[in-house]
Formats: sequence, C-alpha cells, structure tokens
Amino acid sequence: RKRVWSISTGSEALNGILGGGIQSMSITEVFGEFRCGKTQMSHTLCVAAQLPRDMGGAEGKVAFIDTEGTFRPDRIKAIAERYGLDPDQTMENIIVSRAYNSEQQMDYITKLATIFAEDGQYRLLIVDSIMALFRVDYSGRGELSERQQKLNIMLARLNHISEEFNVAVFVTNQVQADPGAALMFASNDRKPVGGHVMAHASATRLLLRKGRGEERVAKLNDSPDMPEAECSYIITPGGIAD
Ligand code: ATP
Ligand code: MG
Repeated sequence: RKRVWSISTGSEALNGILGGGIQSMSITEVFGEFRCGKTQMSHTLCVAAQLPRDMGGAEGKVAFIDTEGTFRPDRIKAIAERYGLDPDQTMENIIVSRAYNSEQQMDYITKLATIFAEDGQYRLLIVDSIMALFRVDYSGRGELSERQQKLNIMLARLNHISEEFNVAVFVTNQVQADPGAALMFASNDRKPVGGHVMAHASATRLLLRKGRGEERVAKLNDSPDMPEAECSYIITPGGIAD
C-alpha cells in the first residue's frame, strides 16, 4: 500500500494548516488574485520537493507545466541557495514544459505519465495555471460544456497520475473577474474558475490573497483531513516563507 507524504510549502505556518504540506496521491489547488504568490509558491515547491525528508522534502524530481510563460530558472536558483542546494543541480531535476494551448497541456500530461513510469524519481507535478489556456481556447458562450468536458478528462488523468506514481499534483487557478471595481479588495469572496468540475477534482483547495503590505494570507477551504483555517506568509527572494 502506498503511503501519503507531503512537501513543504516553505512556510511553517502554511504547512501547519495543511497538516504537513502539499500531499501526494491527490490534487492540491491554490487560487487567488494576481500577485498573491501562486507562481512563487510553485517555484518554492520545485526546490522543496528535492530536499531530504527531514527538511520537508521528498528527495525527488519535479515536472512543471508552464502555461503562462512565468517559469524563471533564476528564481529556482535563488530558492535553492536558501536551502543550501546546488542551484544548477536543482534546475536539472526539474523538467519544464511550456504549453501554448490546452491540447498541448494535455499532451504534456500524457507524456509525463510515461516519463514517471520510466523514472521513478518524480515526486511532484505542477501545472501553473490549470485553467488559463482553457479559458482562451473555449472562450465562446456555447463552448462552456465542451471546456468542462475536456477539463474533466484532464483532471481525472492528473488524479490518476498522483495515485499511480504517488506524486503530489499542485495546480494554480485564477479567480473569477471582478464584478465591479468597488469589489476590488473583496478577495475573500472570490471564486476559483472551473466550476464544479474543478471543485470535485481538487482534494485540497487553498485561497491565497494579499494582506497588509508584504503580507499574504492563505485560507484552507477544503481538505480531506484538516479543518478550515487561515495563516499568513510572505514572499522572499528565497521563496515562500513565514
Ligand atoms: P498571477 O495571477 O499574475 O499569475 P501569482 O499569484 O502567480 O500571480 P506571483 O507571481 O507568484 O503571483 O507573485 C508575484 C509577487 O511575488 C510579486 O508581487 C512580488 O511581490 C513577489 N516576488 C517575486 N519575485 C520576488 C523576489 N525575488 N523576492 C521577493 N518577492 C518576490
Ligand atoms: Mg502566476
């Protein structure tokens, strides 16, 4: 029987409300407005996944699907230095795929399943962001049901991969656009995109938002084994921290 384990987010407070960190064998979704730290958290996890177990890592390799062109090797290197890892070696353990449409995104996921089967060292699969390309490819009103159908297939495959290879799947998601400028800061009420298909697929859902100044706030909305809770974290040159 496979055992669920977890990867550190870089913040002890956040690991605490998650019950250790980002879990294997299921999908964890973080969603929130722009600049709340979704991509920075993704980068931090790329490094943390490679750490020894006693440092919150999984001693493994990472696959990163970049749909927005925001993956930065320089950020990985800076975060690696924080943890005393060799920056170049850390980058070498990350396979990055840049997807330009949702079909490509699906193809990469399928290819990664083959790679995971051949190389048992992969411990983390990141998709940043899960919905961005779907929203472009199926932007018409009449295309919503087709979009949700395709999304459902993709998420089922991601869930399958997480269980078959005992990896953590971490996806970032956007929030629905502001209904009005007056609600700009009412980010507490923001809903993730992807509807019930997305909600059903993610075992763990974490809402990120901006706090005062440099502070960011994470709220655990959904978890298989932890209560609803909130904590704050910061974004540093060395990644997500307390
Ligand atoms: P989007 O929805 O636009 O993709 P996001 O949630 O992915 O946004 P990030 O790109 O993760 O947001 O976070 C951007 C923020 O991270 C910046 O506003 C900045 O405050 C912080 N940041 C980025 N790089 C650094 C760094 N090297 N040192 C400290 N903070 C940084
Ligand atoms: Mg981002």
